[in-house]
Amino acid sequence: MLMEQREGWIWLDGQFVPWQEAKVHILTHTLHYGMGVFEGVRAYETDRGTAVFRLEDHTRRLFDSARILRINIPYTPDLINQVQKEILQKNDLKSAYIRPIVFYGAENMGLHANNLKVHLSVAAWEWGPYLGEANMTKGVRVKTSSFMRHHINVAMCKAKATGNYLNSILALQEAVDAGCDEALLLDVDGYVCEGSGENFFIVRDGMLFTPELSSALDGITRRTIIELASRLGCEVVEKRLTRDQVYIADEAFFTGTATEVMPIREIDERVIGEGSCGPITRRLQSLYLEVVRGSHAEYQRWLSYV
Ligand code: PMP
Repeated sequence: MLMEQREGWIWLDGQFVPWQEAKVHILTHTLHYGMGVFEGVRAYETDRGTAVFRLEDHTRRLFDSARILRINIPYTPDLINQVQKEILQKNDLKSAYIRPIVFYGAENMGLHANNLKVHLSVAAWEWGPYLGEANMTKGVRVKTSSFMRHHINVAMCKAKATGNYLNSILALQEAVDAGCDEALLLDVDGYVCEGSGENFFIVRDGMLFTPELSSALDGITRRTIIELASRLGCEVVEKRLTRDQVYIADEAFFTGTATEVMPIREIDERVIGEGSCGPITRRLQSLYLEVVRGSHAEYQRWLSYV
């Protein structure tokens, strides 16, 4: 079904409006210039009802992204946390992907971006693993992109900003056209950075390596995996990684809220490890999926029950 033709409710500027009526004007500033910020959040069904995973961390990143771009969100983080829970109840969702977005209105045109109203909407819907359920066990095929991740002074990489996704889309389309599932973007210095919408990890000799956070997004799943890996006794090193280091990895995987923990079976026609989900990736993936569903008491602090 087309996204815009679904049934349900979307929260827009302080009220719930019927899904198909949640519309904006054609001169909406963000549509023209890409100055907006958003989040991707997931809620899972648990034994104690539905819980949003790391809700406060996502909301904090939303407000941080807005601050970086000098957008003043006219609501408190507490309210936006509350709305993300209410949207699930209102739409009768047990598990869901939640999409808050902050955008400028249609009051004014031009790059001064002044005298514009700041809008905020929150939608939610059911969404399975972003790169496909089957790939959760068999792993995805990846292509190093000809498009680079943004330079830190070209785009504000710590901001999850709508305009930052232009080259992510181009990179993903290029990878899919080449018969792959996802792109791996290098940074402007040629070091491995991240996927089009995921952070990236490799495993070598039982240790985890992930690119340091310069131009990659500070992913909340990345943070989660770093913490879970240490629980499994795996050392995690954040450092610059080169393409050839990646080619000789024992295992590789992507992390993201939508993607969860996605094994990588092949990069640039080189088979990674055994060419399927590696053992450490599998343990981290299982642990992650248990934690988000509330099976581990010590990680209840990451769950906000609806
Ligand atoms: N990198 C990019 C470019 C992304 O869009 C995302 C998805 N938000 C991620 C990494 C993963 O971030 P998170 O784990 O917070 O979803």
